[in-house]
Amino acid sequence: MFVYADNAATTHIDPDVVKAMMPALGELYGNPSTIYSKGREAREALDKAREQVAKAINCRPQEIYFTSCGTESDNWAIRGITKHYAAKKGKHIISTNIEHHAVLETLKAMEKEGYEVTFLPVNEEGFITAQQVEDAIRPDTVLITVMTANNEIGSIQPIEEIAKVAKEHNVFFHTDAVQAVGHIPVDVQKMGVDLLSLSGHKFHAPKGVGALYVRRGVLPDNLMNGGGQERSRRPGTENMAGILAIGAAIEKATANLERDMAYVASLRDRLIDGIVKAIPHCKVNTPSHDRLPGTVNVSIKYIEGESMLLLLDMNGICATSGSACASGDLDPSHVLLAIGLPHEIAHGSVRFSFCTENTMEEVEYILEVLPKIAQRLREMSPLWENVKNQETL
Ligand code: PLP
Repeated sequence: MFVYADNAATTHIDPDVVKAMMPALGELYGNPSTIYSKGREAREALDKAREQVAKAINCRPQEIYFTSCGTESDNWAIRGITKHYAAKKGKHIISTNIEHHAVLETLKAMEKEGYEVTFLPVNEEGFITAQQVEDAIRPDTVLITVMTANNEIGSIQPIEEIAKVAKEHNVFFHTDAVQAVGHIPVDVQKMGVDLLSLSGHKFHAPKGVGALYVRRGVLPDNLMNGGGQERSRRPGTENMAGILAIGAAIEKATANLERDMAYVASLRDRLIDGIVKAIPHCKVNTPSHDRLPGTVNVSIKYIEGESMLLLLDMNGICATSGSACASGDLDPSHVLLAIGLPHEIAHGSVRFSFCTENTMEEVEYILEVLPKIAQRLREMSPLWENVKNQETL
């Protein structure tokens, strides 16, 4: 059996999405900036995709800017806002210590450029509070950037409450919603954010296309200089195939969201329950509330996550032991350390992430395979030997 259980890393491209993008790889090759009919045709398709994205997150189409990925959207929001407003407001930024590398590394680079960043610590379930944000605000705070949902453990932050605090103190608020869009309701009006990042490949569009929502009246500086595309804010001839795909994908992903969330959550709950019952000495790192429907992160103590992944792969199961961008790196995940796991337990963690394409049979298959793998690896572990000896004393 083959089980793709790594949908937080990327998703399978939906065949309906492939169908929607095909015209851009064929007859719809005009440049949308040209005024003859071939160009106008492309412009119309581009406008339609922008409307689809805007509708899905409840904003005006003019507030959507297409980008190349979630990383670009994050970089643009953070660098663009600070560059435009730092002189007037100051150089202090507030964020959390569990952001994706797209945000964390941008902020770390900016610290070297003279910005000051407060990285708020999360609690043991991966949450911050609006009070923590309020307490960190200073007269020179220019931007708050807090992710909507965490890519490793699935915790969902109190975005609406943070937005209220940001508004009261007149500070811009950006959220990285790359793991949220297409998986939980995302409504920028209700959330009250000024900027929001999203990425197509997390909800069944291809890689290489994302978007940034920028509330009307908010003016991030450009990251790049060039032509007049995206109302002169994000130059470069449009990735038409990717844009048509992201429009179709977001429409499909949000069409039956409540139903889909309930289904995906049933897979998550069965897996967590099954793991806890079948494998002694494990710790569930996914929080018990305010969490993504499809994410399961668990530490299986006394074994190595990497070995577990290899054996899962040999059994046809794709999962991950940290975020995909960080694998190949032997440091334990910064998110798992931030929720207080010691290094050795963080090292033994595995993340499964589901979408509507997964089935309960697949979950049962994981539950058949994983306990055997845990048992086999523990039998090779001197640490496990000690635990067993202590238990028999
Ligand atoms: N932010 C979060 C929370 C993510 O999970 C990811 C990708 O894993 C990104 C940003 C980066 O998105 P992209 O891969 O489109 O650059």
